[in-house]
Amino acid sequence: MPRKHQPKQASPEVYERIYKMFMAPVSAFDCGAKCGEHNGGAPICCSTDVAIPIVDKHEWNLLQSRTDLWHEFEVKDKATEKELSDLHEDCRAIECKGARFCERENRSVSCRTFPFFPYITRERDFIGMSVFWTFEDRCWVQSHLQIVNLRFIDEFVAAYELLFEYDMDEFDANKEHSANMRRTFTRWKRPIPLLGRDGRCYKVLPETHEVVPARFAEFGKWGYYEKDLPAEPAANWADLDPQALKGLADKIGAKVPAK
Ligand code: SF4
Ligand code: SF4
Repeated sequence: MPRKHQPKQASPEVYERIYKMFMAPVSAFDCGAKCGEHNGGAPICCSTDVAIPIVDKHEWNLLQSRTDLWHEFEVKDKATEKELSDLHEDCRAIECKGARFCERENRSVSCRTFPFFPYITRERDFIGMSVFWTFEDRCWVQSHLQIVNLRFIDEFVAAYELLFEYDMDEFDANKEHSANMRRTFTRWKRPIPLLGRDGRCYKVLPETHEVVPARFAEFGKWGYYEKDLPAEPAANWADLDPQALKGLADKIGAKVPAK
């Protein structure tokens, strides 16, 4: 549904509400252990060599009032300087002390949501979540999307609904990111994976951008995980969208329907 612009900004209090409502892990798996096998034991997305967390000034104020886990990211090379050169003046690039010191309740929104972002259609509908595809060769989750818990999807949607109520720039940035993804996947002739806010699996067709039901097996496996057997799906898929599991190897659990 189209949203009206609200001349407000997310305050530290809004981020505090988001932190309270959004604690669910992506899945029952410790996905950091899976990708960490390729990164000296540390989760790949917790390394600023790979992904630098960005927060707005209100979230940064909140984090500073709660913990000394974080500091401003120090740019060490020209490539990173270029990467961060178009950062909005209200945003900060930050870095934590490292995975060994992680404080679950003091993770940034970007830590809680990774590897997903809110997918927004051309018609401005926030219909679910898709992936930061540039990490698909390294992020284990992106090769095993059936592991995502319904609770994570529900909390993700609720958190972004609240954030978008206050921060239209955030909405517009995600709408633009969704459009970039459509352009890229159209070029690649690949369907965009979409975990719907109704707890079902969809794809965005590369030709028409129509959103239709999908099976996880259609999305493929990437990079380090190309040869993986499918991981066991979260129970919610068998309950809400059993068709989505068709075509996954039948050894991975009783809940997966036969091919
Ligand atoms: S979200 Fe992806 S990159 Fe981050 S810890 Fe899990 S598998 Fe690794
Ligand atoms: S706060 Fe935790 S989840 Fe976020 S980057 Fe640091 S170690 Fe990773």
